[in-house]
Amino acid sequence: MTAGTAQHPELTILVPVYNEQDSIAPFVAALAPVLDSITRDWEILFVNDGSRDATIAEIRAAHGRDPRIVAIDFSRNFGKESALSAGLDHARGRAVIPMDVDLQDPPEVIPEMVARWREGAEVVLARRENRDSDTRLKRVTANMFYAMLARLGDTPIPRNVGDFRLIDARVVEALRSYGERERFMKGIFAHVGFKTATVNYVRPRRAHGQTKFRPVQLYNLALDGIVSFSTFPLKIWTYLGFAGAFLAFAYTAFIVGRTLVSGVDVPGYASLMVVMLTFNSIILIGMGVQGEYIARIFAEVKARPLYLVRERIGDAGTGTETER
Ligand code: UDP
Ligand code: MG
Repeated sequence: MTAGTAQHPELTILVPVYNEQDSIAPFVAALAPVLDSITRDWEILFVNDGSRDATIAEIRAAHGRDPRIVAIDFSRNFGKESALSAGLDHARGRAVIPMDVDLQDPPEVIPEMVARWREGAEVVLARRENRDSDTRLKRVTANMFYAMLARLGDTPIPRNVGDFRLIDARVVEALRSYGERERFMKGIFAHVGFKTATVNYVRPRRAHGQTKFRPVQLYNLALDGIVSFSTFPLKIWTYLGFAGAFLAFAYTAFIVGRTLVSGVDVPGYASLMVVMLTFNSIILIGMGVQGEYIARIFAEVKARPLYLVRERIGDAGTGTETER
């Protein structure tokens, strides 16, 4: 590795932030010494995801204290997945490390990740040793989600690995070529491949403030993950349909036979209802699943921008070619 230039610092720390005014200063204070111990040639790129508090003022103050802290400011809240994409588009480092601002991704892990990278790894995953710092509900639902994804998904997605990882500039370039609007970054990260190493860490609890995700957002993220990385939910209806049709034919033969032998009998309300309710609900579920895919096709076809930048603080993104 040659020494970095101002255009291309050695490391970019990419940090999406949403209403995190109390976290910015402690985060920088904890992270900067760790980065300085690796190289003085780094940038911290904040992506302000439409915060409604004093987050942007805190970032501006941090930039005033250290110009290596730069930022892009979104016109509104676009969500963490979009903020990560924007960060990858604007990151100039020869390696990029996405991190949460709440110190749940401990800076102490970074030297180890950088060491693996310097040994030749192109992606260094940080894997959580356990989920002790999560609530029971989050643990159970996360386990269910990863189990489903593993069964249904076409791309193996590593378990207990978040967005916290080191990504070589070559991989960042590859990630920029993913044009999809509905972005499930953990899946896209896994889809690119490249030489991958893993380091383990224990995930602490949030240092300041509280989680920025509501349960419904996590549900949607999980749905995005499955729909974007599996076509199995679409295909299962063919098999259910065949199975249902087979049962229906068998039952038809039985009823016709019985009517021929013992004449018309009027009772049959119960069996009629059962068949109608069962098949109608199966059809509705099938249509609903198709709807999930169609809604995503609709979003892709509209091809709206993933995010809109109001302004840049410092020279964020200068020298990066890809801009969407
Ligand atoms: N975040 C964001 N946009 C959002 C929600 C969250 O940029 O719409 C950021 C947030 O500021 C934090 C990171 O994503 O830096 C992780 O969020 P959080 O810690 O609330 O998630 P959790 O750890 O609870 O899963
Ligand atoms: Mg957190």
